[in-house]
Amino acid sequence: CRASIESDVSQRKEDVPAPHGLSDKIVGVLGGGQLGRMLCQAASQMAIKVNILDPLENCPASSMSHYHMVGSFDDSATVEEFAKRCEILTVEIEHVDADTLEKLEKQGVDCQPKASTIRIIQDKFLQKVHFSGHDIPLPRFKQIEDLESAIKAGQEFGYPLMIKSRRLAYDGRGNAVAKTEEALTSAINALGGFGHGLYVEQWAPFVKELAVIVARGRDNSILCYPAVETVHRDNICHIVKAPANESWKIMKLATDVASRAVASLEGAGVFAVELFLTEDGEILLNEVAPRPHNSGHHTIESCYTSQYEQHLRAVVGLPLGDPSMKAPASMMYNILGEDEGEAGFIIANQIIKRALCTPGATVHWYDKPDMRKQRKMGHITVVGPSMGIVEARVKSFLKEGSAEDI
Ligand code: ATP
Ligand code: MG
Ligand code: MG
Repeated sequence: CRASIESDVSQRKEDVPAPHGLSDKIVGVLGGGQLGRMLCQAASQMAIKVNILDPLENCPASSMSHYHMVGSFDDSATVEEFAKRCEILTVEIEHVDADTLEKLEKQGVDCQPKASTIRIIQDKFLQKVHFSGHDIPLPRFKQIEDLESAIKAGQEFGYPLMIKSRRLAYDGRGNAVAKTEEALTSAINALGGFGHGLYVEQWAPFVKELAVIVARGRDNSILCYPAVETVHRDNICHIVKAPANESWKIMKLATDVASRAVASLEGAGVFAVELFLTEDGEILLNEVAPRPHNSGHHTIESCYTSQYEQHLRAVVGLPLGDPSMKAPASMMYNILGEDEGEAGFIIANQIIKRALCTPGATVHWYDKPDMRKQRKMGHITVVGPSMGIVEARVKSFLKEGSAEDI
């Protein structure tokens, strides 16, 4: 037995160095925004080294990373150079150079999730084609190339009609709603015309939006976090309630659709699956993010394993952690820029000051260099013994007289 252990160790010495902790592998993250920052925070707890690639010298993850390469995650030469300094490549944003990731993978670079996944997801139209090919329920959709095809799609799907950019979309920037056929041209123009690729989706008559974070390990094991309700304001995630207040049947359906969607993609990591719940109890997939996600911020305080720790465990090949909630209820409130510059900071500070005195509340501030309207500047998670109590606590730190619907 001893001989066999010694031979195992000597073999490992030749192949991979023995880990001196949870993992000796340097994880390279393309992108250094708030998601990258929270990945670095989780990594520090496990003593895993995280390098980041981001063009902004003072991006949110910069000060927390092991090494920050200043450069574009959409530039081939830069991504190749960055890859030389990492043992595993992962992403905190899907708008990265997928061609280069594919090339690097062929050269043996370990990308998690796989470049094929990033390629499918970064083009929302391809994403829809992929998921409909895997029998995942979706709103009907169609590519449009000119006004004529848009009019045809409107006749087929009815109005309001959701027009979406295929690429580079986030926080609803890339979506435009045409309420009538006459409004099509202005909606298409608002998205910069047909040049960058557009498609349309039938309006989803949802009663609620749900999201499920799904984790997949390198051994293809899958674990799901409890489904949450996401509340959007002007297309931007505003509030997340965990768990969603739905029947066991709806929670199971949402989890089934989400895990089937993720099972159709390749690679390890956490994935966020955004869903629509319709009046008749149907679940439709909106989109998938191949990375930690806004709908999973609450997991830092409310689950045994946060989505950030889980992502790192998955990509480095550690066992997945327990995704269940350790608090009965939690609510995440996004601190969005209410105004430009100093005026915006003053409003945010007032909320933060009150949140710091609220039981069960944890404040996260991303340290973004500029305050801009509608920009995600930080978030506050409140945990508590019931959703009623958590809601009351959130209301207590919002602006006095605020009409915000939570
Ligand atoms: P994210 O920041 O989540 O990446 P995004 O820019 O990719 O957002 P979507 O998720 O496509 O945008 O849409 C943003 C929001 O717009 C959705 O959360 C939902 O509220 C609404 N929406 C999107 N598609 C539809 C649809 N087909 N019918 C009705 N509402 C929709
Ligand atoms: Mg999106
Ligand atoms: Mg979305």
